[in-house]
Amino acid sequence: MSGTSKPTFYVTTPIYYVNDVPHIGHAYTTIIADVLARARKLAGRDVFFLTGTDEHGQKVQKAAAERGLTPRELADRVVVRFQDLWRALEIEPDFFIRTTMPAHERGVQKIFKKLKDQGDIYKGTYRGWYCVSDECYLSDDVPEESDRTKVCPDCGKAAHPLSEECYYFRLSAYRERLLDFYDSRPDFVRPESRMNEVVSFVRRGLKDLGITRTTVSWGIPFPDDPKHTIYVWFDALHNYLTGVGYDGDPDLFRKYWPADIQLIGKDILRFHAVFWPAFLMAAGFELPRCVFSHGWWMMGGAKMSKSRRNVFDVNLILKLFGPDPLRYFLMREIPIGLDGNYSDESFLHRVNSDLANDLGNLVQRTLTLVRKSFGGLLPAPGPENEADSGLRAAFVALKERVTSLYDDVALTRALEDIWAYIFLVNKYLADEEPWKMAGDPSREKRLARVLLQAASAVRGVSHLLFPVMPGSARKVWAWLGEKKRPEEVLFRDLEFVGLEPGRRVGEPTPLFPRVALKDFLAAMAEPAPETAKEDSMEQVGYEEFKKMDLRVALVLKAERVPNTDKLLKLEVDVGSETRTLVAGVGDVYSPEDLAGKRLAVIVNLKPAVIRGVESRGMILAAEWQGKAKIAFYDDDVPAGSRIK
Ligand SMILES: [Zn+2]
Repeated sequence: MSGTSKPTFYVTTPIYYVNDVPHIGHAYTTIIADVLARARKLAGRDVFFLTGTDEHGQKVQKAAAERGLTPRELADRVVVRFQDLWRALEIEPDFFIRTTMPAHERGVQKIFKKLKDQGDIYKGTYRGWYCVSDECYLSDDVPEESDRTKVCPDCGKAAHPLSEECYYFRLSAYRERLLDFYDSRPDFVRPESRMNEVVSFVRRGLKDLGITRTTVSWGIPFPDDPKHTIYVWFDALHNYLTGVGYDGDPDLFRKYWPADIQLIGKDILRFHAVFWPAFLMAAGFELPRCVFSHGWWMMGGAKMSKSRRNVFDVNLILKLFGPDPLRYFLMREIPIGLDGNYSDESFLHRVNSDLANDLGNLVQRTLTLVRKSFGGLLPAPGPENEADSGLRAAFVALKERVTSLYDDVALTRALEDIWAYIFLVNKYLADEEPWKMAGDPSREKRLARVLLQAASAVRGVSHLLFPVMPGSARKVWAWLGEKKRPEEVLFRDLEFVGLEPGRRVGEPTPLFPRVALKDFLAAMAEPAPETAKEDSMEQVGYEEFKKMDLRVALVLKAERVPNTDKLLKLEVDVGSETRTLVAGVGDVYSPEDLAGKRLAVIVNLKPAVIRGVESRGMILAAEWQGKAKIAFYDDDVPAGSRIK
């Protein structure tokens, strides 16, 4: 080994809060990070990709208490859901950090103490609107001397002014240094519009930040004053240091820090582009090279939380298509930084048109022609003519462009360029008409040349697509009889070569099967049974209400419906009999939460088949913040009791 080391690339996602289960927003950020990580590896970098979970704080403590769990138990359950989804999406982080890991907790305490010892953290008094019911402060400031109350936006109850002892970070002292820093590094925040937002926020002046709480027990304690726990944001941001070995693996830390790209959603821009660099400056760390803020996925361009179809069901898409079409769609549809609008139609159009028609058919057609014409063993080709060398030159140029577009996080443009080339290859085949040459001995060498060019193009395109669609790229390379896998060849070593004479070609299956829109819509429209229409409720008389047979049901058994995010299959005792029903509450409740519980069920609702299971009855639940909340009965209420 020589002493030279590869340039490194360190990419992070935000760590995700464990009071929520994974959804498309988490998947989007994490897929971007995975694509960038894979692309930089192929560019010859030594890559570290970090993601993980944010497990401390008031909200986690509360969500756990509502489920009768300890915060740690809740976190353990939710972490598995994130890790399972990443596996299913072919997302391969180098490390999954949890903020409850001892090395993280130690690291945060160490930095906190350092900042306090040097005077960047001082003790003061925090004053805010405190909601007793939610046990938390509202975000707005309390005017001095006020003794009025304010309505808590979460629970609607009155919040009162309250003061508590609190440690502050001297953020106000970093205003000038931050502005100088932004000035010297205009690319620190991307896209540019977000950089401008950050600069004007800091220009308006910065207030010191309260960074401990005495009212929250589920957090990292400050050892010198342990009734204080460190505020969850201060705790969480430091995962980017501890996740690469800040406390425990100094070699790893020296190698990868500072981060090259920190991906975030635009809602947490201020934390990452203002507070975080100030913390790092204070503690004497180098600053990250870039904070990249992406946009949101929306549905129907409108409010996400009300309509029944507001949830983009990642698991259902995965089940129907596998990971690559979803990865492709999310990276292709909108440039990172803008908001995107998901619709089933636009997703399916990408699958059927871009993937099945343009790319899938090219692969299928090329490999099938090689197999049919020469039994899979290509003879020596004739010389390149102008069209052949044009195809080769276009690929060389494409490779250069795509490599630098990947470097620049311009993933949409990289894919557009690759597709422009796919059109070119398809046109080449249409012009050459190799299918007419087969069986004519005088044209055998020409046919071999055309197929060689097409196979080279297919091989090259698959390689360039590897960061976005790793599974499909591997498949194509295996069909081509490549001994290596695409990830074993660097972009710079990738040449326009296809099948050397004698290479055996495998039999391809359709890379992206076409799906009819009506079948897709039917699959996507399967009922999410927990959500009833909220709009325009008409009045009903008692006679009508009486028609509903509502009963207390005892849950005998509960299990997840496989491959679904939200569906639980329940066996319930409704007094007269045992029934099976399917409830869309699995994003909030685990099977263990429901087994043995008593809840309300409509027993005379028409049966419905949900994911192949006949559901006979529906449980009643409140919809609160887009999620189901079940009311439970005490254990002494017998199953079958009538609810009126
Ligand atoms: Zn409240």
